Amino acid sequence: MQAHDAMYIDGAWRPARGTASIEVRNPADESVVGRVPAGDAADVDAAVHAARAALPGWAATAPAERAARLGALRDRLAARREEIAETVTVELGAPLKLARTVHADLPTAVAGSYAVIAAEYDFEERVGNSRVFQEPVGVVGAITPWNYPLHQVVAKAAPALAAGCTVVLKPAEDTPLVAQLFAEAVDEAGFPPGVFNLVTGLGVEAGAALAAHPEVDLVSFTGSTAVGRKIGALAGEAVKPVALELGGKSANVILPGADLAKAVKVGVANVMSNSGQTCSAWTRMLVHSDQYEEAVRLAAEAVARYVPGDPRAEDTRIGPVVSAAQRERVTGYIEQGVKEGATLVAGGPTAPEGCERGYFVRPTVFAGVTPDMAIAQEEIFGPVLTVLEYRDVDDAVRIANGTVYGLAGAVWSQDEDEAVAFARRLDTGQVDINGGRFNPLAPFGGYKHSGVGRELGRHGLAEYLQTKSLQF
Ligand code: NAD
Repeated sequence: MQAHDAMYIDGAWRPARGTASIEVRNPADESVVGRVPAGDAADVDAAVHAARAALPGWAATAPAERAARLGALRDRLAARREEIAETVTVELGAPLKLARTVHADLPTAVAGSYAVIAAEYDFEERVGNSRVFQEPVGVVGAITPWNYPLHQVVAKAAPALAAGCTVVLKPAEDTPLVAQLFAEAVDEAGFPPGVFNLVTGLGVEAGAALAAHPEVDLVSFTGSTAVGRKIGALAGEAVKPVALELGGKSANVILPGADLAKAVKVGVANVMSNSGQTCSAWTRMLVHSDQYEEAVRLAAEAVARYVPGDPRAEDTRIGPVVSAAQRERVTGYIEQGVKEGATLVAGGPTAPEGCERGYFVRPTVFAGVTPDMAIAQEEIFGPVLTVLEYRDVDDAVRIANGTVYGLAGAVWSQDEDEAVAFARRLDTGQVDINGGRFNPLAPFGGYKHSGVGRELGRHGLAEYLQTKSLQF
């Protein structure tokens, strides 16, 4: 798609107040593929005022009308599937196949899910002598990252719009093109002017202005814990609700008796998908001492099938990471793992063969990892798997829960009851049992430093509602 040299504010593409711009690069070859305006506080202010002005009208629409618009949005996204996939491939570096199924189809399904939920949700109930109403929280500031650039936009905008809120979106600076495409789809779907607004720009400028704006009623943020903490502090100061989806360091716990070969293969695929840039990725594989050597051998075998290459080629399974900065961060962690005494069984810090141009990282597996190492504690956000050893089930629970994060995880067992009992002991918002599929209707969000609040499904809608009781 052609980049807009404008912001989508109050139902039209309008020039930014300033002249600064952001270059969008293709991480596979480092070429500049577009330029978007770097909005400032004045642009954010204009967008927030448009959202504020549109709020009373949109909040008063019947849920069926909001559902109809969201259904139209789903249809527009579905019609532009190939364009979405190509855009995400070009600005994020995701392989085309993944871009179609995950980066395009998943957010389209999420938009569709809110068309259904908006129509079916009980926005009013009777409690004794009261009528209790669920009302929109108001103007929502949505700040999103680059790793699932359309999904994270839809996971905020769709429930907010379903609730009757109006939205100002500040997408990640690395991936603004698919956000512009989303704004086009919103426009085509017939939402009234001002209900959805887009301001592209840098986090420290446009993002910070949106997070601090007094006319924003709720900020929903996905990204790093460091920035999330700042946004949470601002919300606390202003006595506003906040939704935070932050980092993760999820454990993939393989219990004795589980299908080891399958658990390792799926575990490796989970980490390598999207070049490891997934907040819920199972980046710590926990294996019983008796099976540890075998699991490491299987992991090295499985990762060999991930050969970095051109994300536009249909058979490429792993592309580059998003940016030079992200590559430096990831290779820095790989070097740190070696220094800490972990054993490299695959990959390493140097560029993969034939991929000297572009931001490629070698798919990496570390064995001999102990729970206190930085590579076992910190979110690397790249194609790096750590394999850790546990002695018994209690040890596995202790290691799995032994980070500041608690976003996701996995448990493998031959006995489902055993897996469920184990999963209930994990301090984490989601657990996949024996490779259970991602469910776009299930609440997604973190315990501990992984965040505050839940996205997706009915729980995701509830984040954007506040409650009023009338007594009779
Ligand atoms: P980030 O937190 O810096 O950026 C996320 C979003 O916040 C972007 O839109 C950015 O412009 C904005 N932002 C940045 N500073 C801001 C500020 N002071 N006020 C308001 N908004 C601000 O994340 P990043 O730099 O894109 O990635 C850094 C690390 O964060 C990654 O390596 C990864 O560990 C983590 N991360 C996690 C997720 C997740 O889904 N949990 C997603 C992306 C990144």
